[in-house]
Amino acid sequence: MEEKFIKILNKKDCTGCRACEQICPVSAITMTEDDEGFLTPKINKDKCINCGLCKKTCGQIQRYSNTDKLKEQVFLGIKPKEIDIAKKSTSGGIAYLISKLIIEQNGVVVGSAYDENLMPKQIIVTNIEDLQKIRGSKYVTSDTNNTFSEVKKYLEEGKIVLYTGVPCQIGGLKKFLKKDYENLYTIDIICHGVPSQKIFKKYLKYLENKIGEPIVSYNFRSKNKSNWGRGYCSEIHTTNRVIFRKADFDPYYFAFLQGIIFRESCYYCKYKNMERIGDITLGDLWGIEQFDYKFYDKNGVSLAIINTVKGNKLFENIKDNVEYRVYSEQQVTKFNDNLKHNQNRPSKRDGIYNELDKISFDKYAKKYLSNKNKFKYILKNIMPNNIKTFYKRYLKRGKNE
Ligand SMILES: Cc1cc2nc3c(=O)[nH]c(=O)nc-3n(C[C@H](O)[C@H](O)[C@H](O)COP(=O)(O)OP(=O)(O)OC[C@H]3O[C@@H](n4cnc5c(N)ncnc54)[C@H](O)[C@@H]3O)c2cc1C
Repeated sequence: MEEKFIKILNKKDCTGCRACEQICPVSAITMTEDDEGFLTPKINKDKCINCGLCKKTCGQIQRYSNTDKLKEQVFLGIKPKEIDIAKKSTSGGIAYLISKLIIEQNGVVVGSAYDENLMPKQIIVTNIEDLQKIRGSKYVTSDTNNTFSEVKKYLEEGKIVLYTGVPCQIGGLKKFLKKDYENLYTIDIICHGVPSQKIFKKYLKYLENKIGEPIVSYNFRSKNKSNWGRGYCSEIHTTNRVIFRKADFDPYYFAFLQGIIFRESCYYCKYKNMERIGDITLGDLWGIEQFDYKFYDKNGVSLAIINTVKGNKLFENIKDNVEYRVYSEQQVTKFNDNLKHNQNRPSKRDGIYNELDKISFDKYAKKYLSNKNKFKYILKNIMPNNIKTFYKRYLKRGKNE
């Protein structure tokens, strides 16, 4: 019997952004989880009218190019004057500052929030209190749901909209909208890559069993145990306890940082280059200790790249509330590989999801995700920060000579 559904054959061709599903005029496309737990489109042949809109809209086949690019991008190190804003955010908290500005202008903001099962979803925020929900990096795929269609409605009503997301989501949104709206602002977050919600779900269950209590919140980038730039540490709240886990010794976090459990398309991303897709690009200003130590801040320093005229307008509006310094492209990209390059697909990625459903997560983590070189990481974790900085500088100098 002939198959009723058409599926994506090559996994690297789809980012799971949902633009095709949202654009389809006859609702022939549904998004379902593939065997690894990544959302992928499935086209119902009985409904499909072969209009080709899905392919035309795909940001992985052909990416969108911004029309109001600045002649030269501006590279900023930036942190808020109000310390608490950076403290509660991942980097310097600039995403929060810009989001707050948009809400104050009676606009709406789209960002990633955990749902009741701690799975990240893009949600629409209309008030300042709810901005807390979209604060903080979730190192997992965030489902865009129907936010592209919702955003279009808001834009056509004349509302100001700010969409924050990883670059492929911003690319998908722009392809879906087909034109530049004056009232749309976008922030693309520098992205290493995203694991599936399925693996994160299994990991959370495993942690809950280990701890013996349900997890109620998960912060990937706590600053309560280690300062910004001094190693990644998660802060997990259960019903009665607070637990900190250093990334190097946590199987999920370690695998994320090693880049071995990403969506296939992440290794072939069309957006990890200097033609940035958002009006502003935000990330961590890694390496600041080495090229401008005085600007380092234990609460976090953001890297902001102003890409477009609209991006510049946003920056002008928050300028009074931040401290900033202008750097060169070379300075900011030297320590942030994920800005410019795709990570090479590691051979460890082959079949890494195959046994996820077959063996316990405990066994799975030991077999596939664990840090096999713990000694090096123990050393890294006990080494005083000034020695670490000296050592890094020394190594860099060695490389450049
Ligand atoms: C998967 C992922 C990988 C990253 N990799 C890098 C990297 O390699 N180098 C680097 O410099 N920075 C990276 N970042 C960005 C960094 O972690 C911070 O998110 C960024 O610097 C903004 O910090 P902030 O303090 O301004 O804002 P925060 O208050 O921390 O806000 C984070 C913003 O990101 C959005 N967001 C959070 N999680 C997701 C998600 N899963 N999908 C879509 N949007 C999300 C939120 O909606 C919010 O607007 C990554 C972020 C993510 C989500």
